[in-house]
Amino acid sequence: MKPVDFELHRPSTTREAIALLAEHSAEAKVLAGGQSLLPLLNFRLARPEHVIDLGGIAALGELRRTSSELVVGAMVRQARAERSPGLAADAPLLAAAFPNIAHPPIRNRGTVGGSLAHADPAAELPAAARALDAVFVAAGPRGRREIAARDFFVANLMTALEPDELLVEIRFARAAPRTGAAFEEVSRRRGDFALVGVAAQVTAADDGSITDARIAVTGVAPTPYRADPAEAVLTGAPPSEERLAEAADALRAALDPSDDLHATGAYRRDVAGTLLARAVAEAYRRATVPDTEAAQEAS
Ligand SMILES: Cc1cc2nc3c(=O)[nH]c(=O)nc-3n(C[C@H](O)[C@H](O)[C@H](O)COP(=O)(O)OP(=O)(O)OC[C@H]3O[C@@H](n4cnc5c(N)ncnc54)[C@H](O)[C@@H]3O)c2cc1C
Repeated sequence: MKPVDFELHRPSTTREAIALLAEHSAEAKVLAGGQSLLPLLNFRLARPEHVIDLGGIAALGELRRTSSELVVGAMVRQARAERSPGLAADAPLLAAAFPNIAHPPIRNRGTVGGSLAHADPAAELPAAARALDAVFVAAGPRGRREIAARDFFVANLMTALEPDELLVEIRFARAAPRTGAAFEEVSRRRGDFALVGVAAQVTAADDGSITDARIAVTGVAPTPYRADPAEAVLTGAPPSEERLAEAADALRAALDPSDDLHATGAYRRDVAGTLLARAVAEAYRRATVPDTEAAQEAS
C-alpha cells in the first residue's frame, strides 16, 4: 500500500519545526529515520495530513561529550552513535545495545531519538535509557523541559512528550571506571524485535563488590521495566552464582507479563531471569577485565 497524501515540510531549524508542529500538531507526524513511521504510513495505520522531516536540522545531529555527560542529539543515527569513538568507555550499555537493534541498514537510517520517541516496549534503547536514568530534553512552544527516564515512558508506544513537543536531545551520565555492560536477548531470528531482553550495567569496586547495578528489561511490560529488586540483591558484593540466581528469582517474582501471540507470560518471566543472570555475569566480566585485555576486546 501507499501512504495517504500528505504535505511534507522540511524545516532547517528546531524553532521552525516547533512552529510547524504547533500549527499542525493534531494532523502532523514528525519524521526522523522513518524506520518505524514509514511502515505505519504505508499500511495507513498513521494518516497524517502533514509530515515534518527533521533530517535538515543540523543541531539535532550533534553528538558531544561534556566532563560528565554524553549528549546525543535526537537525530543522531543509531549507526553513527554505535561507531562513535569512546562509546564503550562513556556509555558501555549503549555500546552493548546498538548491535542488537535490527540490522545495519536499519541502524544507518534509524535515529536514537526516533527509537526513544517511538517507545516500543520490545526496543533496546528505551531499556538502556531507563537503566541509565537518561535525561530527555523536550522542546515546544512553551520552551524546553527535562524529563527523567522513569517519567518519559508512559505506556505502550506512548511517551510524556506533548503533541506539540519535539524530543531534541538525550543526556547520559558518563560511566565511572570499572564499569561494564551487556545486553542479552531472545528473538526468533537475529535482528527481529526481541521477545525478552535484559540491559545490565555494573560498576565494580577494587575489592570486587558491585557498587552500582543498573538493569532494565524489555518485552515484559508496556514500558521498559527497571529491575530495582534485582539491583538491590546484586549491590554490595561480587556476583556469585548464588547471588545471580537470587537476583534472577527477584526479577521473576516482580514480573507478571501477559500472554500474547508470540509467547506466554510465564515463558517471558522465566527467560527474563535467565537473561538477567547472563547479562550481569558478562557485564561484571567486562567491568573487571584488566585494561590491556579491554583495549584488545574493543579493537
Ligand atoms: C525490519 C525492522 C526491524 C526492526 N527491529 C528493531 C529492533 O530489533 N529493535 C529496535 O529497537 N528497533 C527496531 N526497529 C525500529 C528501528 O530501530 C527504528 O529506527 C526506530 O524505532 C525509530 O527510529 P526512526 O529514527 O526510524 O524514527 P521514525 O520512524 O522516523 O519515527 C518513529 C516515531 O517517533 C516519532 N519521532 C521521531 N523522532 C522524534 C522526535 N525527535 N521528537 C518527537 N517525536 C519523534 C515519529 O513521529 C514516529 O511516531 C526495526 C525496524 C525495522 C523496519
